[in-house]
Amino acid sequence: MIRMARDLRILHTADLHGNLRHYQKLLSLAETEEVNCIVIGGDLLPKGHSLNVLIEVQKKFIVEHLRPLFKKFREVNREKSIYLMMGNDDFAVNMDQLEKMEAEGLIKLLHLRTHPLTDSLSIAGYGCVPPTPFLIKDWERLDCGRAAVPARSYQACSSTPDGIAPIDARDWFLSHNTISEDLDMLARLSDPASTVYVTHSPPFCTALDVLINGRHAGSRSVRRFIEEYAPPLTLHGHIHESYHMTKELANRIGGTLCINAGQTEAILHAVIIDLPGYLVRLARSFP
Ligand SMILES: [Zn+2]
Repeated sequence: MIRMARDLRILHTADLHGNLRHYQKLLSLAETEEVNCIVIGGDLLPKGHSLNVLIEVQKKFIVEHLRPLFKKFREVNREKSIYLMMGNDDFAVNMDQLEKMEAEGLIKLLHLRTHPLTDSLSIAGYGCVPPTPFLIKDWERLDCGRAAVPARSYQACSSTPDGIAPIDARDWFLSHNTISEDLDMLARLSDPASTVYVTHSPPFCTALDVLINGRHAGSRSVRRFIEEYAPPLTLHGHIHESYHMTKELANRIGGTLCINAGQTEAILHAVIIDLPGYLVRLARSFP
């Protein structure tokens, strides 16, 4: 735990999607910028491989790349914590590999969990996103109410210890909590007024959730959560292109500062937030 709430420096990014160079640059930024902690808000692992090998590809990335990289970093940076969680492109079946890393003291997992960040501040996370047109549903949930369940089934799958299992999307969504229900649960784990929340999905209808076609695709429940519980700071990812559409890293909702680092393929986008003033700047690292 960091002793003082003053002078806390957070390095936040998301959507690294298994880009090893981005991970390396992130850790070297953490050292040069002398941050207190790193927050990686979901979509950690590679994509773009065929579905039948992707579970194994992602597991291999954790075991052969992420774990050794973080181990080396933590050996010389014991005081710099790494908080992270999976996002909608990461197969949930590989959570056991991240849990092993947590047991070794390399990372702290955020999804539906809370950790002390300072003496007076906690950090909590939530990796699920509203239904997407994409195939993998492990981390997808209905946003607000069950009435919004898709009227017809479409192609969908989840990850299991035996591989990819086709699922009925309608059954999937109806048999899980909504995002709204999960977030209300999360709010009970620590005092929202003194908790930094990391949710993979940005809040709906902000400068942080704009698609390439100009439409908003964030979560209405995340927005409702922020409006209702008024946390000081929320960190997001998921809509990679939003920053490039709006040129905004941050958006205020009431007294809450909300941030989406806006990942790119070629250049690492990461954001540094200095507390207690909540000063935000882009810590972009050029190749
Ligand atoms: Zn992503």
